[in-house]
Amino acid sequence: MMARSHVPFAMTWWWVFSLLIGQPVVGLGTLIAGIGGLLPDLDHPKSVLGRKLFFISVPLSALVGHRGITHSLMAVVAMVGILAIVTSMPEYKPYRWMVAPLCIGYLSHIFGDLLTPSGVPLLYPKRKNFSLKLFKTGDWKETATVGIIGVMVFVLGGVWQQMIGQVEPIFAMLRALR
Ligand SMILES: [Zn+2]
Repeated sequence: MMARSHVPFAMTWWWVFSLLIGQPVVGLGTLIAGIGGLLPDLDHPKSVLGRKLFFISVPLSALVGHRGITHSLMAVVAMVGILAIVTSMPEYKPYRWMVAPLCIGYLSHIFGDLLTPSGVPLLYPKRKNFSLKLFKTGDWKETATVGIIGVMVFVLGGVWQQMIGQVEPIFAMLRALR
């Protein structure tokens, strides 16, 4: 999947999760989920995040290669574990809320790449690549799938209602200023 698909895909997954657990769809969480959706491709120096954080992506890609351990369940478990420990420390506790959107975004990336023919080594260190072969990376079907799922969740889940609810106080303030 391309970065332009990974970001909305990650955000959609975060919305679904928030709606399922009855949590409001918070704007900042959506943003963090979008970033999480780009993280696994840090193993590629030419990826969106890899180009910005080249000091991480260059050594990481040399060490583990593209679509290796970073695209496996092992990476997700390790990430949840490390972030849970770090954010249990008092000085990092205020950032604890970011763990869920970040990890869900990350997981959505692995799932997104699983839909492409190249697949992902889901059960790393097992070398087997898992793939659902739904569409090729960058294909119009990729954009269509992400778009349809995203719009469906946005409308059916009432995400737009919640967003309007969050923006409304700002409008009210602007109206009061007039
Ligand atoms: Zn990827």
